[in-house]
Amino acid sequence: MFKCDCCGQCCKNVGKVKILERLADESGACRFLDAEKNLCKIYKSRPLFCNVDAMFKVFFEDKMTREEFYNLNYEVCEKLKKRII
Ligand code: SF4
Ligand code: SF4
Repeated sequence: MFKCDCCGQCCKNVGKVKILERLADESGACRFLDAEKNLCKIYKSRPLFCNVDAMFKVFFEDKMTREEFYNLNYEVCEKLKKRII
């Protein structure tokens, strides 16, 4: 299972990602992010691109292992947390 600590950094930076920029408000954060709770307001129906396991299943399962895909995602999480992307 993908280990997300709910830091919210991915959701606060959707404006930086071409395929997700349509979700962004003027600050670059997703308009579906509950800023107080740091949680997605549409979690059960969130876009495919917001769901690590669904993305793996649909686009990457034949290209790498789940662990490799998780690790690539963890790298992005760390960069977002360190504000280097
Ligand atoms: S940046 Fe990573 S750890 Fe933080 S909320 Fe997003 S997926 Fe979870
Ligand atoms: S839809 Fe939900 S999970 Fe996806 S970026 Fe917005 S707040 Fe985050």
